[in-house]
Formats: sequence, structure tokens, C-alpha cells
Amino acid sequence: MDERNETESSRAATAGAPAVAVAPHHPVPGRTGTRRLFVTYGAICLVPVLILGAVLGLSYRSEAAARGAAQGRSEATLVAQTAVEPLLGNRPLADGLSTDQTNDLRRLVTPAVDSREVLRLRLRTLAGRIVFADDGSGSHHEPDDEALEAARGETVVRLTHLNADDDDQAAQGPASVEVYLPLEAGTPARRVGVLEIYLPYAPIDADVTAGLHTLYRDLALGLGALYLAIFVISASVSRRLRRQLHVNAYLAEHDHLTALPNRAWFLRQARSAVEGRGRGGSTALAIIDLDRFKEVNDTLGHHNGDRLLSVLAERITAQLGPESSVARMGGDEFGVIIRGSPDPETVLWQLRSVIEGEIEVSALPVSVDSSVGYVLVPQDGEDVDQLLQRADVAMYVAKAEHAGVVRYQPSQNHYNPADLTLVSELRHAIDDGQLVVHFQPKATLANGHIESVEALVRWQHPQHGLVFPDRFMPLAEQTDLIHKLTAWVLDRALADLRRLDGAAFANVAVAVNVSARNLAQRDFSAQVVDALSAAQVAPERLVIEITETALLADPARAALVLGDLHRAGVRVSLDDFGCGYTSLGYLSTLPVHELKIDRSFVTDMAQNPAHRAIVRAIVDLGHNLSLRVVAEGVETSEALALLRAVGCDVVQGYVLAPAMPLAELEAWLLAPAPPVGASVGGP
Ligand code: C2E
Ligand code: CA
Ligand code: CA
Repeated sequence: MDERNETESSRAATAGAPAVAVAPHHPVPGRTGTRRLFVTYGAICLVPVLILGAVLGLSYRSEAAARGAAQGRSEATLVAQTAVEPLLGNRPLADGLSTDQTNDLRRLVTPAVDSREVLRLRLRTLAGRIVFADDGSGSHHEPDDEALEAARGETVVRLTHLNADDDDQAAQGPASVEVYLPLEAGTPARRVGVLEIYLPYAPIDADVTAGLHTLYRDLALGLGALYLAIFVISASVSRRLRRQLHVNAYLAEHDHLTALPNRAWFLRQARSAVEGRGRGGSTALAIIDLDRFKEVNDTLGHHNGDRLLSVLAERITAQLGPESSVARMGGDEFGVIIRGSPDPETVLWQLRSVIEGEIEVSALPVSVDSSVGYVLVPQDGEDVDQLLQRADVAMYVAKAEHAGVVRYQPSQNHYNPADLTLVSELRHAIDDGQLVVHFQPKATLANGHIESVEALVRWQHPQHGLVFPDRFMPLAEQTDLIHKLTAWVLDRALADLRRLDGAAFANVAVAVNVSARNLAQRDFSAQVVDALSAAQVAPERLVIEITETALLADPARAALVLGDLHRAGVRVSLDDFGCGYTSLGYLSTLPVHELKIDRSFVTDMAQNPAHRAIVRAIVDLGHNLSLRVVAEGVETSEALALLRAVGCDVVQGYVLAPAMPLAELEAWLLAPAPPVGASVGGP
């Protein structure tokens, strides 16, 4: 049987359930760290500002040089046009200068050179040969390239020094602007030669640099302001980031509803309490779980549930001394560390009675009990995970035995840690949608019709795969979790039944299993009625399966609930019948509709004559009390034939079909002749 095998494998898998995980601790950088970060950031910001400054400075510099050259060029043009050209005739300079012309030129140039307005002036032929030089220099020079360019009509300007040319023998002179420009004369004007003039660069430079200084100053001021702006912005951004970092660190370790520290914080504190043991007496680690908090939530609403938790958080905090701490572990569970108290148990009892004190919620006085489990460090364990697990065990014992405050004892260890982990995971599994309901059909033997389907819960566990109810239902039944679970299965099963309606199986009923603990709730039938009307399902289409043993746990209470269900029109099936000890007299007074023979008698009835006799007896008993009789665990066609022979009404078992997801069930119901189902109808 595949299903059973999966149960076995999931059982093996759950045995190795992981220990409590510790949330990472988020470090917040200290003051020195922040300062270093800030200085680094400031230095990094400076780099682009400096590069920008250097680029702009260099471009100003070359702009200044260009302006110097332009100024030299216009001065040279002025000299050529106003002073030199008028002295020349209309013949090319290659024909030589007359003595008068030479004298005129000398007269013109000498005062300018003496006053250092001009450093040197030469006239050249269009072939570049020198025909006049104020200082007689260069007559043996080869023609310059610049001179030849000027002869072709270009004006050439260079920033250089006097005597910087290769063939100048004299020592290098002052910085100058060297200009070669074509000379024109005559009418119409034509090019006759080239003027080569050296103008002193110093005055031009002084002029240009004066402008440049202002530019540099503005640049420095601008860049300084830019850097300051970047710095101020980044300082404020980083201040804000730092604040956010603190907020995040706070949020990571606090619960926003109660403003108490959370589980991660508690684990960190517990760890340091355990590491620092021996100092200043013993420490107690306690887990406080509220009893029936879910009922408060359900009846008064989540909003009021939240308010209640906040008030309790304040009370606990106020009650504990400064050396103790409290955290919200999640849901309705608190963790407490009591340090250096000679009698932590008394402290916890006091805490419990403070929690119990009435609280006004929506004008109603509400009081909540709690179950407290605790361990002493170092007496009760070595490491934090083990200690907290043991505190959890003690808490479950306190809850199961209604014992208030319980210290861990090794004898409590039948609550094995894997089970406890599973229970706490189950709590979340319901909200996280990890539970699924599978359906197993039940067929009427007389005609093979599927008259109902039984809802059987499974847990799609993220690590352990599909977990079967026999692994977790007994655990859930030990705690209040069973209420939440039953309510969930009931809602799910009814909602799924509505989906079957759409597929034209409007007369099929659904059977939901309930536990003894569900029956202990006086308003259980009211919850069932609410679920029915919420899902808009007629009461006759719901069967509640209650095991015979659950019924016997508190027969008086169970009889009341059964009566309510009966009046509401819901059918009741007595599950696993034959295992308990129901007196026949009692059975005849109970408003039940159906007996479901325990599968241990059915499965092997073909091989076991005693079981065969029991099955026959139960069928007769049921019929005599006007009850329908169902056989579950029908695995073979032999068993099927025997059941038909003894007049059993309904069968359920692998011979028909195993429990399956809704989608599979729909397909199965639609299949024209289910291979196994066909054998049910009989001839
Ligand atoms: P149960 O109510 O007696 O359910 C019948 C169990 O027998 C199911 O196991 C079903 O899969 C299995 N079964 C069906 N046909 C055969 C067969 O031919 N041979 C054999 N050997 N077994 C068969 P499952 O689903 O593992 O459920 C186990 C028990 O868990 C159920 O026994 C029921 O007591 C409990 N349970 C399941 N779902 C719920 C639930 O939603 N609420 C409560 N309170 N209990 C549940
Ligand atoms: Ca059942
Ligand atoms: Ca059963």
C-alpha cells in the first residue's frame, strides 16, 4: 500500500527535525567606523572635483596662449599695414631695397627696438631670403618654412623665444610672439615679400594672465562650493542612512505589535545568559503560552486579540525587575529570562497571576490563563537550543495537565523534541497553507453509488514531504491546536464539496473527522452550523465522524454535542466502532446515524473467522438499532463479497479507491466505470 509506505517514510523523516534556528545578528557600524567611512567618502568625492579643476585650468591656459598669439598677430598686422607696406614700392623684395627704403626702415624700426616694443624685424623675399634685418642677423640662414608659408599668403604665429631657431647662434632671448605675414604693395596690391617680426610676449602675457587670475579664482571658488555641496549632501544622506540602519536593526529584533523584543533577540540574550552562567546565581529561561487565546481572537476579533497581547506585554514588562527580560516569541507565546533570583518559580507564578488579571476588551472583562514551562541554567541543560526545547516540553506538560508553572523534569521526555518541533511547525502550517485535504469515496453496496467522501487531512511539509495524520493528529490533539485544525478541515471540506456540486455530484455528502477535544467545547455544534451556512451547504450533506473512544472520554458532554448536531440536521457516524467499550444501552440512547466498523476487523475478515464474526455481529447490531453500517479498510474483493453476504450497507477502502486530492476525485467520479468501483455494485 503506497499510502502506508509514505506514512512510514515521512515518520522516518520527521525524526530528524531541525533544531531551532538562530536569526542572524545585524551589526551596526560604530562611531569610529562611521567616521572612517565618512573621511574615505570625502576623499573619493575630492578626486573628480580635482580632475575637473585640472581640466578646466589646462583649457584656460591654452585659451590664454591662443589669445596671446591672436594679440601678437593683430599687432604685427598693424605694423605691416601702417608702417612697413607704405615704405615699399610695388616691386617684389627680391629685386632688393633701395638705400632710401633701407634708411626709412631703419628709422622706423630702431626706436621701436630701443623701446623694446619690437624685439626684431626682418623683411624676406617670397623665396624666404632676408633682405632687411634691424640687427643685421640671419643673412646666412636657410629660408624658414614659416617664411615660405607666409609667402604663399598664410600668416604664421608662434609663441617662442628670440633666437630659438636651429640656426640662430646667439644666446636664447626673451619670450616672444614670432609672426610671419605676407607683405602687399602697389595698386592693385600684390604680394611682394614677407614680414618676420618678434614682439615681446611679457606684456601680452601680463595682460592675459591678469584675466586668467580672476578665472582661476572663480574656478577655485566654484569647485570649492561644489565640493562643499557634495560633502553636505553626502553627510546628510549618510546620517539618514545611519539612522535607517539603526531602525532596521531595531526592527530585526523587535515585534511591532507589542514593541517587545522578538525571538531572535531572545535567543541572543538566552545565549549570553547561558555563556555567563555561574556569575551571580542561577538564571531561569521560561516559555509562557496563553491558554485558549485563539478563542479570544475568534470571539472578540483579531483587533481585540492584538490589544490584549499589547496589554499583557506591558504587564509582563512592568512586573519583571530590571535584571530580567521578556520577548514575544510569536503568536501568543512569550519568552522570559529571570536573572539572579533565588526563587524564579515564585516570580513566574506571580507573573502568571498578573497575566490572569482581568482586562477590559470591548467593554468585556476578559481574563486569560497561561501555561509556563521553565528551566534553570545551568542545572537543566548545557546549550541554549536544548534548554529552550526543555522549557517548551515543560510548557506543554503545564498545558496538558493544567498545572500552571512547571519546571522541566527528565521524566517529561516522552514529549520527544521532534514532536515538539512538529507541533510548533504545525501551528504555522495551517496559516501558511501547508495542509491539504484528500477525499476517500464511500460506496453503497447495493448499487455501487458513491454516497459520500471522507475528508482526510495531510500536511505538505516543506522538508518532510507529505506527512500523514497519524504522525501529527495525536500531537495536535494534545494541544489547543486541534480546534484550529478541525475548523480548517471543516471549512476546506465544505468548500471543496461546493466545487463537486459544480461537477454535478450534488447529492454526495462529505464526512469530517473530529477529536474528543472538539467535543469538549460546548459550542462545537454552533461552530459546525456556522461553517455550513458560511459554505452554503445543507446540513444533511455533512457527516461528522467521531471515534467510539472520543465519545467515551466525556460521555455526558459528548451526548450534549451529539444532540445539538442531530437537531441541526447533521449526521453522526461512530468511527472505529468495535475498539471501544460502548455499553449497548448507552449506544441505543445516542443520536447517531451510522456505525463504522473498525478497519482492523474488516481488512483481514477473509482470513480471520473471529473478525468475520465480529463484523457480522456489528452489522446485525446496527440494523437492529436502525443504524446504517459502514465497513472501512476494505482491501480485497473477498472482503467485499463477505460484506455483501452479511448485509453491510456501505464500503470504503483501497479496493474502491484510496484518499485522493480533489482534482483526482473529480476525475475518478467522472470516469464512466471505475475499474474497482465496478466490482462494488454487484450483479
Ligand atoms: P480514520 O478516520 O479511521 O480514517 C481512515 C484511515 O484509513 C485513513 O488513514 C485512510 O487513508 C485509511 N484507509 C483507507 N482505506 C484503507 C484500506 O483499505 N486499508 C487500510 N489499511 N487503510 C485504509 P489516514 O488518512 O492516514 O488517517 C488516519 C486517521 O487520522 C484517521 O483514521 C482519522 O482518525 C485521523 N484523521 C484524518 N484526518 C483527520 C481530520 O481531519 N480530523 C481528525 N480529527 N482526524 C483525522
Ligand atoms: Ca474516519
Ligand atoms: Ca476509522
